[in-house]
Amino acid sequence: MLNHKELQDLRDKYLGPSLRLSYDEPLHIVRGEGQYLFDAGGNQYLDCVNNEQHVGHCHPRVVAAARKQYGKLNANTRYLSNTVVRYAKNLIDTLPDRLDVCFFTNSGSESNDLALRLTRHFTGSKETIVFGAAYHGHLSSLIEISPYKHVGPGGSGPPDFVYTVPAPDPFRGKYRGPDCTNDYVQEVQRIIARINGKGLRVSAFIAEAIMGCGGQLLIPKGLLKGAFELVKKADGVCIADEVQIGFGRIGSHFWGFEHCGVVPDIVTMGKPMGNGHPLSAVVTTREIADTFNNEMEYFNSFGGNPVSCAVGQAVLDVIKDDELQENAPHVGSHLLDQLNTLRSKHDLIGDVRGAGLFIGVELVDGRCSLDPAGNEADVLINMMKEKGFLLSSEGPDHNVIKIKPPMVFTKANADLLVKTLDESM
Ligand code: PMP
Repeated sequence: MLNHKELQDLRDKYLGPSLRLSYDEPLHIVRGEGQYLFDAGGNQYLDCVNNEQHVGHCHPRVVAAARKQYGKLNANTRYLSNTVVRYAKNLIDTLPDRLDVCFFTNSGSESNDLALRLTRHFTGSKETIVFGAAYHGHLSSLIEISPYKHVGPGGSGPPDFVYTVPAPDPFRGKYRGPDCTNDYVQEVQRIIARINGKGLRVSAFIAEAIMGCGGQLLIPKGLLKGAFELVKKADGVCIADEVQIGFGRIGSHFWGFEHCGVVPDIVTMGKPMGNGHPLSAVVTTREIADTFNNEMEYFNSFGGNPVSCAVGQAVLDVIKDDELQENAPHVGSHLLDQLNTLRSKHDLIGDVRGAGLFIGVELVDGRCSLDPAGNEADVLINMMKEKGFLLSSEGPDHNVIKIKPPMVFTKANADLLVKTLDESM
């Protein structure tokens, strides 16, 4: 077997240089089980950050479902399949009634790109409204609508059909505090007026109900509702990007948008859906799906293959049978309490926020200046890794420690995490 150094050298030689490794001393992970990862030296790490492995690394029921279907048949959506249709129905059953048509894809990015195609067909327009600091994927079409990327290093700004509402961050955003909702809603209103003023129609408003890459942001209460109402009134389409927060992670609801009391026209999903297997989907209304059904076939070689759908079904079954949505608020609120206690001890922690097992700890240089403490976050994350805890940072300034572990995370895991964070800080 190659040693650590040889492996890294070969990676540097053969993989694209813009792919990044985590940590100053990168990890060579060789095995996963539940909420734990193990490196080549046999060291155990508590995984506090990989939300793709939603029901736990290598969950035996998910692995068995994949093996069974792969040993029997894999094909594409051009053939009738019980596995595919049953899964589509069960997935749709988790959503509000009007969202009743499904397209399967292979990544969150593919889902969002398809959502844009659907809306552009439906509205005949490209004018797209997004939140500042949002990330919706790595395809060209999505870098265009992702301020997290196009405003950041190496980015070249938004194209003229993309309109950005300031990042809805009540802690360090343009408008702050408990009463800032209306200020952000008015920004949406002004953008719609600008689009209409050019003689154009709003195509889409795409948003996460709780923002991931934007910095684990709980957006101000009522903002999504206000924005959706304005966009719908302007004949635009509302897309909920549930790639990070869907499938029960926030605990109180299965989908993030439900927590905001809105019903979107399109929902995009990914990451947790296949427990790490590349499975994602777009679910929309019959009307929007039918408009897209013009002369051009939509074919996706891998999207909706029976193996992926068998995996997706197993994930849905495990979430239900192992009561993982219920576990999220049970452990998550305990963890939030503990982290808030830590905040009262350490000035470096400016804000603690989250829902269920989707939590952010924002580090600042001082509670008055609120300067982002990105370097400190980096040091802390590396220290925690040395102690066996995998964390990472989020937000445009990379100063928000993100906590979004596999949903089998326990209260004991949470206690140990907070104790070790306390010592490290
Ligand atoms: N939407 C959101 C909200 C995301 O966080 C991500 C990935 N971080 C994506 C879309 C893109 O998903 P993928 O990496 O599977 O293409």
